[in-house]
Amino acid sequence: MSHSHNIKVPSLDGLLSTCSEAGLRKTKALVSGLKVLASAKHPLTLHQIAKSPIFDVECDPATIYRLVTKLEEHRIVRRIGFHSRAAHYCLREGNHQDYLICRDCGSIEVLDIACPVEHLEEQIASDCGYSDLEHELEFYGRCGTCK
Ligand SMILES: [Zn+2]
Ligand SMILES: [Zn+2]
Repeated sequence: MSHSHNIKVPSLDGLLSTCSEAGLRKTKALVSGLKVLASAKHPLTLHQIAKSPIFDVECDPATIYRLVTKLEEHRIVRRIGFHSRAAHYCLREGNHQDYLICRDCGSIEVLDIACPVEHLEEQIASDCGYSDLEHELEFYGRCGTCK
C-alpha cells in the first residue's frame, strides 16, 4: 500500500498563493513547513515536522506550533486527534481522511480504499441541513513490521 490514488501531491505554488490570500507572511518557516506537509505520505506530529530533513530552517518548537496552528485556522492544514496520541497534521488539499494505525508502533497509513462513508456524508448533509461535512475513519491494528 505504498501508492495511493487518493493522494494528489499539492503544489507548493498553489499552497503559497492560498497562504498569501489568507494573509500569512511568506516566511522561511512557512515555506519549509508546507514543503514537509506536501511531501508527507501520512499526517505528521509537530515533532516529526520539525525533525524532517525537508524542514531546513532553524526553528524553535513554539514557532512551529504557531505556524501550524495558523495554517489550521485558515483551513489549509487539518488537525487529526487520533485518540490518546499527539495531534497529527496534514494538508487538507488532496488528503483522504481514512487511516490505518498500528496499535503497537503508532505508524499511520492513509487508506487507499474507496471511501465507505462518502455517500453517507452526502445523505447526512441533506437530511440535517449541514454543509461542508468531513469525517475521519480510523482503523486500529498491528502492522506488518510489528506482527
Ligand atoms: Zn507497528
Ligand atoms: Zn472516508
